[in-house]
Amino acid sequence: MDALSSNADNNNQEKSEQNIKQQLSVLKGIIESIKSPVFSVDKEFKYTSFNKEHAIIMKLLYNAKIELNNNMLDYMTVGKDHEKAKLNLSKALKGENIIEEAFSGEELLSRLYFEVTHNPIYDHDNKIIGVAVMAKDITIRKKAEVKLQTSEKCYRRLFESAKDGILILDTLTGKIVDVNPFIKKMLGYSHEELIDKELWEIGAFKNISASKEAFIELQSKEYIRFENMPLETKEGKLINVEFISNVYLVDDKKVIQCNIRDITERIIANEQLLIAKVKAEESDRLKTAFLHNVSHEIRTPLNAIVGFSGFLNNPDLSAEKRKNFTDIILQSSDQLLSIIDDIIRIASIESGQEIIQENEININLICNLLKEQFLPQSINKNITFNLKTILPDDEAIIITDSTKIIQILTNLIVNALKFTQQGYITFGYMVKDSHLEFYVEDSGIGIPLNMQDEIFKRFRQVETTDTRNFGGSGLGLSISKAYVEMLGGKMRLTSELNKGSVFYFTIPYKKVNLKKLPDIPNIKGLHFEFKKPKTLLIAEDEDSNFMLLQELLSDMGISIIRAVNGIEAVELCKSNPQINLVLMDIKMPEMDGYEATMQIKEFKPDLYIIAQTAYSTEADKNKAFACGCSDFMSKPLKRDLLLSKINEQLLK
Ligand code: ADP
Repeated sequence: MDALSSNADNNNQEKSEQNIKQQLSVLKGIIESIKSPVFSVDKEFKYTSFNKEHAIIMKLLYNAKIELNNNMLDYMTVGKDHEKAKLNLSKALKGENIIEEAFSGEELLSRLYFEVTHNPIYDHDNKIIGVAVMAKDITIRKKAEVKLQTSEKCYRRLFESAKDGILILDTLTGKIVDVNPFIKKMLGYSHEELIDKELWEIGAFKNISASKEAFIELQSKEYIRFENMPLETKEGKLINVEFISNVYLVDDKKVIQCNIRDITERIIANEQLLIAKVKAEESDRLKTAFLHNVSHEIRTPLNAIVGFSGFLNNPDLSAEKRKNFTDIILQSSDQLLSIIDDIIRIASIESGQEIIQENEININLICNLLKEQFLPQSINKNITFNLKTILPDDEAIIITDSTKIIQILTNLIVNALKFTQQGYITFGYMVKDSHLEFYVEDSGIGIPLNMQDEIFKRFRQVETTDTRNFGGSGLGLSISKAYVEMLGGKMRLTSELNKGSVFYFTIPYKKVNLKKLPDIPNIKGLHFEFKKPKTLLIAEDEDSNFMLLQELLSDMGISIIRAVNGIEAVELCKSNPQINLVLMDIKMPEMDGYEATMQIKEFKPDLYIIAQTAYSTEADKNKAFACGCSDFMSKPLKRDLLLSKINEQLLK
């Protein structure tokens, strides 16, 4: 080789070395410019190149200060990382191109995700001389994916566990693409029966045209809501649902989510609320009407009493008029008393104070007495009044609460008289198995069908307040019904408008086999002739009440002593052994009648004491008996009854 050619050779070599250097620095520049870790190793895993990013990562992960020609694996101090790197590098050295995801660091704190590619490096002869590794940081994408997966899981959980039915539909076709378990249970269809069907293909949305229309509206408005829609289950049962559909995007694709809520319970609750509201309003209305009625019913007789009593003072009043006015006053007083009694009775029933007091009674006797009592009124109205008793007297004695039976029959007869203008009233009883069935039948105005249950409720009357022709508080039937039920029976009625009514009630037929019948008390034509002089103690603090008693008992030949309180009553009984009978007021100053009776009974156990009181409930009566009273009369005292009781005792 000559010098020239050797020079040229040298020049060429220099140039190519320069070229190589230039290419190397270009490559280095490229590698450095990549914002992901990049490195290469030879067949012994020694670094042949790496960029800054890789150096940083190695420092971060293994606290390593890496250098060229050093074995990369030596830096990897974490066992599993070392193994993994060795495996991947070895695979690549065998010609595999490997792309895999890897991560490092703690999951919730410093985790970094990479997409790592291992590619073999070939020389001119196509021999593998090393591996190029590039780790692309995919942390942001990965974290977003994880987030999406988590939210999808949450959504799925919600979807699966929702207590509403959820259907997911394809917006274009309207076909069901997903259903949650609740809707399957609600409608009774399986997953397969629902998926890929159009809404109107399943029975639930049978009204095809309406469903299609709704679907079209939903497509355009992207929201639709039906507040109360009937859906049919697979078994053909209709359930009321609230149906809400929304259109929303999933991966650029529109889907429809239908939320379906069974509102059966909500509807029932609403209905119940409405019923309760109507009832409350009704009860409010009834109470107002009742107050009006009561006010009217009390003021009417009071008006007569006050008005006509004033006239009685007039000395020029003719005897006939005086009698007329007195009759009106007495009649009005009875009317007034009856409404007050009704109010007290209903209050007593409602507060649970009403009790049954059974005694032996002859029902024929009771019926006859009632007939006698009401016959005059029916004659006045030109109405035939009949009584039908079917049992012979010795089989008509039963055990029951006679006061209540009399009260029930009285209420029914009074009503029959009130609501009948012509024709007849028949009452009586029949034997039905182990029961007696009483009835009161009339040919009166009758009761419309829709009111036949209502009138047994408190304050209910067929007529409204404004147009009332008949008086009354609207309590009689509810009291009667309550009494019948307390006695172990039932009450019912049949009635036809303008033809008449029959009220029935049953009571247990508890028969008593008595041969001798109690005498019918003679409450008329009271006449007294006492063989020995009789003395009566009247314990009464109110002067007017005492005067009334004095007046009632005048002409009877009885000497009367008065005590103005309980203490005096006890004293007087002690100092006057001739006292045959005591009329004891209960509410008195110093000592009440209960206490006075108890004290008197201690030294005079046989003395007959009649409690006479303005208290009138069963509880008051029982208390008086418990204190030793032998009888009980509530004020206002009925003259005939008072005289018959006194007569009965003093004649002994
Ligand atoms: P009152 O008679 O005081 O109104 P009741 O409770 O006894 O109260 O009766 C309630 C209502 O039932 C009466 O107002 C009347 O409308 C109706 N009713 C009761 N008995 C009869 C009857 N025999 N004939 C027609 N209507 C009746």
